[in-house]
Amino acid sequence: MKHLAGIIGSPVAHSLSPVFQQAAFGACGLDAEYQRWETTPAVLPARVASLREARCLGANVTIPYKEQVIPLIDELGGQSARVGAVNTIVNRGGRLFGFNTDGPGFIAALRDEASFDVAGTDVLLSGAGGAARGIAFALAEAGAARIAIWNRTASRAARLAADVAGEARGEVVSLPAPPSEARYDLVVQTTSIGMEGGPDPTGVAAGLDGARQSALAVDIVYAPEDTPFLQAARRRGLRTLGGLPMLIHQGALAFELFTGVHAPLEVMFDAARQELARRSAGAAR
Ligand code: NAP
Repeated sequence: MKHLAGIIGSPVAHSLSPVFQQAAFGACGLDAEYQRWETTPAVLPARVASLREARCLGANVTIPYKEQVIPLIDELGGQSARVGAVNTIVNRGGRLFGFNTDGPGFIAALRDEASFDVAGTDVLLSGAGGAARGIAFALAEAGAARIAIWNRTASRAARLAADVAGEARGEVVSLPAPPSEARYDLVVQTTSIGMEGGPDPTGVAAGLDGARQSALAVDIVYAPEDTPFLQAARRRGLRTLGGLPMLIHQGALAFELFTGVHAPLEVMFDAARQELARRSAGAAR
């Protein structure tokens, strides 16, 4: 029986997940197809219910449904209940289990691609949207000493800080203004600023003034791979990490939940980079 997985969201036409997940199935010799499941709100319940079929391994979930799928599944695993968002649904014998691999994928990317250990560090999170939520909970679990959250809409930063504070051993605060004191070991840009096709593709999100000279600056935006924020950080002499490693690591964790097979990370990176290069060559023509 050919197995099936896919990505549920809207829009999903440009998602990279089908590209690197299909490459991973192929590299591992699995007879499985990864599909794009463009989904309207009206068909979301039926789409999720279809994941219970025996041939279905599960699905990734993206904007705008990471919260809306929660009442449609049977159990929440990992940090998904605390984060309040599910990005991976796994079918186990007709029961649907929800996970959130965004935060763990982010921590894995820091560890594997930048040799950065979060434990005991002072972290600035710029942005307080859906991705920031998963990252903030994962930073707390990984033992950050202090997490400061700055967001354009202050109430959203305050809410996220309050939610994470209950889970963290360290201090979690929201900031009334972008930081000016260079005290942070890790600065994470989680807004859509700098994203191709986003609200401000050439902008540089606030936060870099808070970075110590030894800090790692991370932008979770992955299209383009080299963002204005990363370029600005490099001009300041900071070490940087882009968003592609987080994307691949969250996908690798999802792949392992779907299949029980160790994810072929290099194959997934190569497939995603080739697709990004193909798209930017197409855009340049
Ligand atoms: P979201 O829930 O819509 O949150 C968007 C965030 O960006 C909010 O903090 C929002 O602030 C801020 N923002 C948007 N436009 C802004 C502007 N013009 N000025 C200042 N702040 C602005 O989106 P999300 O799901 O968190 O995704 C955010 C970015 O992360 C996207 O580019 C997405 O592609 C990327 N991402 C990457 C990965 C990965 O694996 N690498 C995973 C998930 C997401 P307000 O609250 O004030 O509106």
